[in-house]
Order: sequence, then structure tokens, then C-alpha cells
Amino acid sequence: MRSDAAPVAVVGGGFSGVMTAVQLARRGVPALLFDGSGRLGLGVAYSTREPAHLLNVPSGKMSAWPDRPDDFARWLGDDGTSFAERRRFGTYLREILGQARGVQPQQNTVVAAERDGKGWRITTESGTVHAASAIVLAQGNQPPLPLRVGEGISPDDFIHNPWSAEAANAVRRLAQEGGDVLILGTGLTMIDTVLSLDEAGHTGRILALSRRGLVPRAHAPHEPAPVSAEEVPFGDLLATWRWLRRRTGQVGFRAAVDSLRPFSAELWQSYTSKDQRRFLRHARAWWDVHRHRIAPEVAARLAALIAEGRLQVVAGRLTAVTQGAEGLDVFFQRRGGRSEERRVSALFNCTGPLGEMRRTQDPLLQQFLAGGAVRIDDLGIGLHVGQPGRAGERIWAVGPLTKGTYWEMVAVPDIRGQAAAVADDIVKELGA
Ligand SMILES: Cc1cc2nc3c(=O)[nH]c(=O)nc-3n(C[C@H](O)[C@H](O)[C@H](O)COP(=O)(O)OP(=O)(O)OC[C@H]3O[C@@H](n4cnc5c(N)ncnc54)[C@H](O)[C@@H]3O)c2cc1C
Repeated sequence: MRSDAAPVAVVGGGFSGVMTAVQLARRGVPALLFDGSGRLGLGVAYSTREPAHLLNVPSGKMSAWPDRPDDFARWLGDDGTSFAERRRFGTYLREILGQARGVQPQQNTVVAAERDGKGWRITTESGTVHAASAIVLAQGNQPPLPLRVGEGISPDDFIHNPWSAEAANAVRRLAQEGGDVLILGTGLTMIDTVLSLDEAGHTGRILALSRRGLVPRAHAPHEPAPVSAEEVPFGDLLATWRWLRRRTGQVGFRAAVDSLRPFSAELWQSYTSKDQRRFLRHARAWWDVHRHRIAPEVAARLAALIAEGRLQVVAGRLTAVTQGAEGLDVFFQRRGGRSEERRVSALFNCTGPLGEMRRTQDPLLQQFLAGGAVRIDDLGIGLHVGQPGRAGERIWAVGPLTKGTYWEMVAVPDIRGQAAAVADDIVKELGA
């Protein structure tokens, strides 16, 4: 690449953006790393200050570098089997960023980009303008929008975004004032919220509600049972499902689910979009709780809270919420059963990030989508990308924004490889 070329603009300073910028710098390509959220270098997952929030992947698999798989475990000084505090991973990531030469962090949100010759002119929220030779979109999962069922309810009581400052304030308030809580969703975000409440000293009851009431399973020691590509039933969702059930019976669900990991992108891409949709509708909840497992100590803590009657997990559907003088009255219908009513002091939406890319509130994504610079994938959940993350002309995307194309592009062991591959691809393109 020419030495006078403009840097690459990386939009989003979470794991995806940091590692793409650092990988570019390693290849001699300077990068501007934008993030105006106050979490630059950490992102949503690793900006938590809560010690109870543990990684859900053992340290031996959390290296930021695909070519040095034990880097994080060495940094921590452990044998690779522990589930470290997530904030420790944030410190690790910030150290990597701090040591990178050629990455310029910019505490700013990117709001627009215009073509400038072959490259781009980037505009930030504070009005600064930057020349860039290419853009990497690394904005992560899009935050959830307010749920319709919560219309008219005070946002202090109905917390729409569990990763927001409002959520942290609500946890503090509930710890001081007490009161029961309803959590919508029973996945990893519900667990984070329960742990935050418990750590803060909240003593009320917590009801966690989701359609199926499935809770992430715990990690446990198991013998790996790898399979060869010939054994994997590519191209047939139903056959994959039957295979997984059979294999679970033979080697246990942990080994069975893990054995598909090396093939996950290829497997996902071998399905028709109709089958991918079917997976999202019917199989995703099962897959998520078996695939994204929690640390054994977290599982033990949840079990204790359930045993004490402090946490109740229910399969059902929230039907209405009304605001009364003494809290929220919530109405829900148990799966296949009766309707119930409870009074709670707060409700947290932990149903996950925004599911439809067309509803994104990100100004740059909105502009790019409206102008056709990038397009939404066939499932509507991310951006359409070509290998390894080409989203448009001199535009790349990295991380969860590409999950419609790769499916398992949501965690560190997958994103680190994509960040390196995208950096290679950018060098190839710009060097020409
Ligand atoms: C709570 C939680 C726990 C997790 N735990 C693990 C784990 O233990 N192990 C694991 O492997 N994976 C885990 N993951 C998954 C995974 O590591 C993360 O999802 C991954 O780090 C994604 O990072 P990201 O950079 O793509 O997105 P994010 O972390 O969401 O970062 C994106 C950043 O972009 C910023 N941004 C958005 N729009 C703009 C804009 N226009 N201009 C500038 N900045 C912008 C946002 O403010 C944000 O800071 C976890 C995820 C979550 C949410």
C-alpha cells in the first residue's frame, strides 16, 4: 500500500473493530478506530464492571489471535480451563489496542460517509471529517428497540436495553428499594441481569419468562468427539437435526454440538434460506442453550437462586403490562396453560439484540442501506457479505453484522479469524 494512502476507517470499537484495526496495523495499514459510546476498546460484552459476569468460553479458547491460541490463557497465567471475569478480557483487549502501532482511536460516533474518489470521507457526530481509503463496519449486534407491550410504561420501570446505563441505574434502585422483577428472556442476558441484581444486594423475587423457558446449559468436562467432513450431513437441515440427536445419544450433547463447530459456516451456507429461516424459528433456542454454555460456577449460582425460590424460570408469553401506583402489573400466559398476573417493580427486556436489520437506528448503516452501498442479507438479520466480509465497494463488515452469512460469527473464537482474513483482503484490495 502507498505510504501516503488514507487510513482505513473502522467503525465500532468492540472486539471486532479492535482486532480488525490491530490486524491492519500489523500489516502496515494505518487505521482510525471510531467508537463514541465510551466503551472504545471493550465493546458491549467486555465493558461490564461486574466481577460476577464471567466469560462463557474457557480462557484457552479466548485468545484474540488466531495464530496464537493460548495467548489469553498465558496473559491470565492459567492453564486455559478457567472462566475469567469478562472485565479481565476487556483489560487484555485494551492492552492489545494500546500496544498496536498505527491504530488511532477516535472517541466519536460515525454518522455519515461520502464517496471521495475510490475512498471515503467520514463524518462524525461531533462534526469532524476524516479521509479513509476503506471502511470496516464493526458496529456489532444492534441494540433492541422498545417492545410494543411496554408502550406507555415509564422507561425507568420497563428497561428496554439491558446493556444501557438505565439498566445499571435500575439494578441499583432495585437493590436499595427492593421489589420483584420480571425478566423477559431466559438466555445469557437474563443470567447477566440476575447476577447483577444479586451482586447489588437485591433480595426480591425474579421471574424469568420466555416462550420455551430454555436456560443455557453449563460447561462440564467431556471427551471431545470430533467428526470428519464426510460425516456431516451438509445441505439438509432435518438430516443435521437427526444426526445431532443420534450423536447426542452416543457422545453427549456437549461433544456432539462442539463437533460441528469447525463446519458451522459451511454447514449454514449449505442450507437453503428457507431452511435457515426454519432453523431460526424452531431450532435456534435449543441450539443456543446447548452451544453457548455458561461457566459451571454461574450455573451453580443460578441453581441456588432457584432452590431458594428467588429465581423462577417460566415458559410462557407476556401478554400485557400496566403501570400502577405501586409498580407494574404484568400478565402472562404459561405455555399451553393458564394466564397469570404478578406485580413487579421493574421489567427488563433480555430477549436479545434487534432481530431485523431494516430497523437499525445506526445512522451510518441507515445511510448505506438507503443508498444501496450495502444490502441486508436474505434472512434480514445482518448485512449481505461476500467472503470474508466484503459488504460493498471498499466496505467490509466484521462480527455479528455478518451472522446471516456465517451464523456463528458472534463470539471471539470465530471473529478473531474473520478480523485477520478481512485485514488480508483489505491489503490485497488497496495494494492493487
Ligand atoms: C454480554 C455478552 C457476553 C459475551 N460473552 C462472550 C464470551 O464469554 N466469549 C465469547 O467468545 N463471546 C462472548 N460474547 C460474544 C462476543 O464476544 C461479542 O458479541 C463480540 O465481542 C462482538 O463484538 P463487536 O465488536 O462486534 O460488537 P460490540 O461489542 O457490540 O461493539 C460494537 C461497538 O460499536 C459501537 N458503534 C456502533 N455504531 C457505531 C457508529 N456508528 N460509530 C462508532 N461506533 C459505533 C458501539 O457503541 C459498540 O461499542 C458475549 C456477548 C455479550 C453481549
